Amino acid sequence: MIPIAKPYFSEEEKRAVIEVLESGIIAQGHKVEEFEKKFADFCSVKYAVAVNSGTAALHAALHSMGIKKNDEVITTPFTFIATANTILMVGAKPVFADIEEDTFNINPLQIEQKITQRTKAILTVDLYGHLCDYEKISEIAKNNNLLLIEDACQSVNAQYKEKKAGSFGHIAAFSFYATKNLTCGEGGILTTNNIDYSENAKRFRQHGMSGLGAYDYNEIGYNYRMTDISAAIMLEQLKKAEMLTKKRIDNANYLNEKLKNVKGIKVPSVKKGFKHVFHQYTVKVQGFKLSRDELFEHLRKKGIGCSIYYPKPLHLCKSFAKLGYKENNLPIAEKMSKEVISLPVHPNVTKEQLDFIANSIASLG
Ligand SMILES: *Cc1c(COP(=O)(O)O)cnc(C)c1O
Repeated sequence: MIPIAKPYFSEEEKRAVIEVLESGIIAQGHKVEEFEKKFADFCSVKYAVAVNSGTAALHAALHSMGIKKNDEVITTPFTFIATANTILMVGAKPVFADIEEDTFNINPLQIEQKITQRTKAILTVDLYGHLCDYEKISEIAKNNNLLLIEDACQSVNAQYKEKKAGSFGHIAAFSFYATKNLTCGEGGILTTNNIDYSENAKRFRQHGMSGLGAYDYNEIGYNYRMTDISAAIMLEQLKKAEMLTKKRIDNANYLNEKLKNVKGIKVPSVKKGFKHVFHQYTVKVQGFKLSRDELFEHLRKKGIGCSIYYPKPLHLCKSFAKLGYKENNLPIAEKMSKEVISLPVHPNVTKEQLDFIANSIASLG
């Protein structure tokens, strides 16, 4: 099977882990601090707070900004569950706004229609590695006095003009889970230019502890710390960020060339001025010989680890049933969930494998 994702490690990561193990300081320490500094620089923001997952980063972000019970947070239904679950974790209410068909990202016009007296924040997701339309969304946030949180879990190193993912909102959250573009197995980080948010997140990561090392607590917190073992891996991954991103983009372009003229297959679009980092290379099946589900089965049988992100938009999932959404409430997200299929473009995929993937589709068309 050609897997949909595979981490890219070499000698550097192995050496870095051994060095930490031999140092005897393996939990949160200097490596975490060094990684936070380097990651903040990488995104051109002032502060970064490392945690042990993307979910923890989102939870800490929402908490640090003071989002709480009775607040509404506008977000996309076409994302991984953690985006909306973390809104529930702070007791707030997710309000789903429909997406754009070309980028799969939240539609700014739909955001505006969902704003109420209770709206406190917009939580955007840079799906598959393509940034949202932050020119419009930032303006909406500003005009309506709303906080903007960027779920950048899939978009590390993505760009709009000169600005990088993680620098568009008041806070952003990244994931370093095993399938993500940069990884240490499990990990995450939040980025911000606001020192209060950064300090709040640091307390939240450590049981709500009020001062350094003092066993005194002002509020609830969790154990969301990253280990130095993970941070040491991440420091090496960060050095490879450009190389790894380029491999994904090259692989995506290669598939584009082979698939763009296949009838019924729509290759991903990249809007002008955007750098797409292809966490997923996702095509739409629209009037192809096979249905999306048949194509999925066909490719799987051939050993191609294609995948569906996401087969059900969140507003139709049982865990959000009490919000009262029904079918056809968010038609674009629902349509996309029936048409998308993601193909492997991670940095370990070879040209021969890309040829095999493309030919397995094109030969049917
Ligand atoms: C991966 C992901 C998360 C959660 O990250 P974890 O590290 O798995 O907790 C959140 N949002 C999106 C969009 C993701 O892709």
